[in-house]
Amino acid sequence: MKIAANVQESQERVAHLLPQTTPEVARVLERAMAGHELSRDEGLVLATLPSEDVEALAAVADHLRREIVGDVITYVVNRNINFTNVCFIGCAFCSFSTSARASDAYNLPFEEIAQRTIEAREMGATEVCVQGGLPRGLDPFYYRDILRTIKKAVPDMHAHAFSPMEMTYGTELTGMTLHDYLQMLKDNGLDTLPGTAAEVLDDDVRHMLSRKKVTVKQWTNVVRTAHQLDIPTTSTMMYGHLETPEHWINQFILLRDIQKETGGFTEFVPLGFVHANTGLFQVGMARPGPTEEESIKVHALARIMLRGWIDSVQVSWVKLGRQLSQRCLQAGANDYGGTLINENISRLAGATAGQYMPVDEFQELIRQIGRVPAERTTTYSIRQVFDMAADTAPV
Ligand code: SF4
Repeated sequence: MKIAANVQESQERVAHLLPQTTPEVARVLERAMAGHELSRDEGLVLATLPSEDVEALAAVADHLRREIVGDVITYVVNRNINFTNVCFIGCAFCSFSTSARASDAYNLPFEEIAQRTIEAREMGATEVCVQGGLPRGLDPFYYRDILRTIKKAVPDMHAHAFSPMEMTYGTELTGMTLHDYLQMLKDNGLDTLPGTAAEVLDDDVRHMLSRKKVTVKQWTNVVRTAHQLDIPTTSTMMYGHLETPEHWINQFILLRDIQKETGGFTEFVPLGFVHANTGLFQVGMARPGPTEEESIKVHALARIMLRGWIDSVQVSWVKLGRQLSQRCLQAGANDYGGTLINENISRLAGATAGQYMPVDEFQELIRQIGRVPAERTTTYSIRQVFDMAADTAPV
């Protein structure tokens, strides 16, 4: 894929490609280029476009990305802490969880969580991303106590922790209202909430993926309540299993509508389904993860459909791998996610991209596609912008 070096070049590239695309696709892409918010029907035209038109879709998304956020590609230095793999929910797409009696079951003691937080800071991390399974009979205030442990170990470590699933479980365990529960967690150090457990926000699809997972209504209630309490969240979508392009567009519109109400989403993260070791794939219910073309389409569509509302589109390098991540960053995405010391969840599902990417490698991959590396905080304050040449100091 050719790299456009500046706004004018990317405009010229789009102008060259549009006349070669299907007329209906060209009409919708022209509206996107002109700054119009696309409707569901227009989104569907793009989501179902033929393979020959994918380059034009990516070029328009890349142009919009350049207009909205420029040429910087951000990343956060962080560490994953997966505090337990014991879970009773049983999602068919998950290879991470296990039963309490399994030989590989683990629960990290609070001392270990504190130690990992301290080590993360020593390695330069500004964030710990804390997620785990849902064990039965958990201490009702367990999630609060994890936050206390992290903040006691490193008071200014950003706690990006849990998910709408865990928040719903926390209210069941404590009997507290969602509002009061989230407020309590915020008071004890919850800085931001990952918008995971979204998968596909369609109850029929969710029922096939996991019968015990939060419903669409529960998921949206948690994020709306978090945003009202000034707890930002991310937003996500898992694609490449049994969903259709229509589900992608519905999800973009639902997330866009929530963002119009609350402004609380920091980013959108497409999460390609990693199929290899999952029951969902093994029983023949799902396709074997997304094709490369689907990944490019989803990142480009996210940029186009969320334009003006959610400005950051992140690649999940652990799931995509390094090369496809770069291609998605040339198709509308602008953020590389985290360095992720100890990434386990995707690895156990069969992803092979690794558990940790050193900062130098992030910067090199960003420079290879002619863009500017920058370290950010979880909430997108820029900490350091690095020059294009590898051996120069931060500018
Ligand atoms: S995805 Fe989360 S909730 Fe579902 S089984 Fe795995 S650990 Fe449990």
